[in-house]
Amino acid sequence: MSRMSSKEIFRSLSPDLVEIVQGLAEEANSRNLRLFLVGGAVRDLLLNRPIMDVDMVLEAPGAAREIVAEVARAACPQNVKIVVHGRFGTVSMESGNGKLDLALARSETYRSPGALPVVEAASLEEDLFRRDFGVNALALELFSSERRAQLEVTDPVGGLRDLDRKQLRILHSESFRDDPTRAFRAARLGPRLGFSLARGTRVALSESIAHGVFSSISGDRIRRELEKVFTDSALGLDPVKALKYLSDWGVLQALDSSLTFSSSARSPIRRLGRAVVNPPWRSSPYRPFVPGLAVWLVDLPSAVRQRVLQRLSVRGETAERIMGFARLRHRRLEGLSKARGRSAVDGVLAGIHEESLYALYAVASSAGRRQIVRWAAEDRVQRVPVTGADLVSLGLEGPALGRVLARIRAGFLDGELLNREEALTLAEELVRRASTRGKTRVRGAKKRSSKRDAE
Ligand code: ATP
Repeated sequence: MSRMSSKEIFRSLSPDLVEIVQGLAEEANSRNLRLFLVGGAVRDLLLNRPIMDVDMVLEAPGAAREIVAEVARAACPQNVKIVVHGRFGTVSMESGNGKLDLALARSETYRSPGALPVVEAASLEEDLFRRDFGVNALALELFSSERRAQLEVTDPVGGLRDLDRKQLRILHSESFRDDPTRAFRAARLGPRLGFSLARGTRVALSESIAHGVFSSISGDRIRRELEKVFTDSALGLDPVKALKYLSDWGVLQALDSSLTFSSSARSPIRRLGRAVVNPPWRSSPYRPFVPGLAVWLVDLPSAVRQRVLQRLSVRGETAERIMGFARLRHRRLEGLSKARGRSAVDGVLAGIHEESLYALYAVASSAGRRQIVRWAAEDRVQRVPVTGADLVSLGLEGPALGRVLARIRAGFLDGELLNREEALTLAEELVRRASTRGKTRVRGAKKRSSKRDAE
């Protein structure tokens, strides 16, 4: 399909964006500038898929880059948040749930493999030629509503044919050398659309790998691409598919010759992906790529793990967490298998970082997962109706106070204690026993006045 009606397009946009897009079209037309919907939005429109982010391009040859912000400000209602960023003056607009990026049509030239491109204002066609795949190099010119009802898809590189063939095709043989991160984009986009790499593209990727292009990109850029593999789970995508592609294509081995994606990592990583969409407990914020990487690398030799983390510029506490996961897995899974009762599980899991907890959940047996979920959802947030101050008033202090509080918490988790009264009675009992044994530091143990006495 190479034509679409304006109505169809506006129906597919998030309602929060319709007014902005119409405003931009009117503003651009009134200045005799051409405005296009480009990239993923056109692709998804043609595939009848939900549109995620909207990318638009303003063709304004010879204009200064400030024109983009000028058009955006003139077109948008007051409540729209406008942010100008990047060397090329791209403007992001946000309204409700809708997000739209408007950029000046530009060309990009790569002076050396993997380097950032030199960017210049250009025609729409040149802008489409700089893109990663044919299916992302489509555009639809937009007009203010009354001017045209039927819109023609601009397709200078054969992207419509690629859509029909369900293929991802690079636009020239140097594409991966210019920007090797396109391999990661292909690994994410292929499974999302159900598309495969065109044969020539696969060959070009192998050749680029043989030329060592992956050694030219920074760890930060590769890590950011891998992070997206895991955050894409939020779209219901299985990270295993993307990682499997990267492994089959030789991209992982190009990052480190010993880096593999073994079949034993698949189920745990799939589980992590599902947990992003349906969290098994109410989590504190965490970065899905950290448990993802921990689980993926855990069975590799420690020297390889270390090297891979360095290659991905994963440093500091995050690197320690991922490196330490092998030991943590061993100890805590063993602890869980021996734990009898909820307080024992609490003892095994207490203090674990949320990212390690997710990694542990992903590799645990089904019984272990049940223990983890119950602990994370219920027990770790369990508050006991007794405070440190209550225990101080019984004469406790120092480590002894901590031990008694822990004993009370365990009593609540295991259902032995049901209320504050029972907890304080137990505390008194423990204080009494300890002071007879002379072990606990008790400042002249006081007798608690019962609630009834106080009333
Ligand atoms: P999504 O639906 O996830 O937003 P998208 O295809 O729009 O997918 P973006 O990452 O938002 O992906 O990029 C927008 C467009 O910019 C792409 O469709 C593509 O045309 C172009 N693009 C992005 N990254 C690259 C790249 N590394 N090389 C060439 N073109 C790129």
